[in-house]
Amino acid sequence: MKEKRNCKIVQDLLPNYIENLTNEETKNFIEEHLKECNECKNILENMQKEIKVDNIKKDNREVKYIKKYNKKLKILKLSLLIIILIYAILIAKRTIIMVSLSKKAAENQMYDNYYVKLYSYQGDMLTITESYNKGEDYLTTLIKMTSDSNIQKLIYYKKGEDMLFISEVDGQKHILNPENITDGCILPVTYVSEGIMTNLQYALITGINSSYCNGKECYVIKGNSYERYIDKQTGLAVRNIEKSNKEITRKTDMVIDYEYKFNVVKDSDIVKPNIE
Ligand SMILES: [Zn+2]
Repeated sequence: MKEKRNCKIVQDLLPNYIENLTNEETKNFIEEHLKECNECKNILENMQKEIKVDNIKKDNREVKYIKKYNKKLKILKLSLLIIILIYAILIAKRTIIMVSLSKKAAENQMYDNYYVKLYSYQGDMLTITESYNKGEDYLTTLIKMTSDSNIQKLIYYKKGEDMLFISEVDGQKHILNPENITDGCILPVTYVSEGIMTNLQYALITGINSSYCNGKECYVIKGNSYERYIDKQTGLAVRNIEKSNKEITRKTDMVIDYEYKFNVVKDSDIVKPNIE
């Protein structure tokens, strides 16, 4: 009877015993009893088994969670890598396009026989520039118009040693000092820089897309303050837009349209202007 009563006490204490929560005296008492009692020993073993199974289940859940988390992390890393790769390819593509445009432009800037026509608009001001260039000789005419002032005309002429620069306002002609003239000769313009590193830097800060402008297939290079249309064939500018800027003096967009013709200029196109 005493055994049976001890059994109840021991079985009550077993959960604490398994978790090592009993004091030394109780622990000894339980262990002494277990030596003698198979029933209690069996109950203890069953309890220990159950705990083991519970722990395995818990572990499995943790492993599953970690696996799921790692998988998500892997997908995230892969996505990031793909995004970086796509961006790198895009930048490389832009750089290649710009380097190839700058090479074409350099070739076309070598021509010593070309005709240029520029239309430049800003606010109510329109400037039309026409330039015939052959070898070292040129004849450039620049006409400036605004809604509230007279038409201003500038003529730059150079043939061999013979030079003449004229300013004409309202039909009144003035001969200008050749030493002050720097912009008589109009070169074919490109807005694409030379060199891979410079173009790589541009590729990082600008966008470049295919487009049409003035009937020509172009690449349009867009920065914060400009939009440049570059002829795919020649690498030369077709249109340049310098955007208005409140902080700086430019209150309205400035647009310049460019037109080039190569190997069409004859000696008879470069005629000395009449001073009278
Ligand atoms: Zn017992």
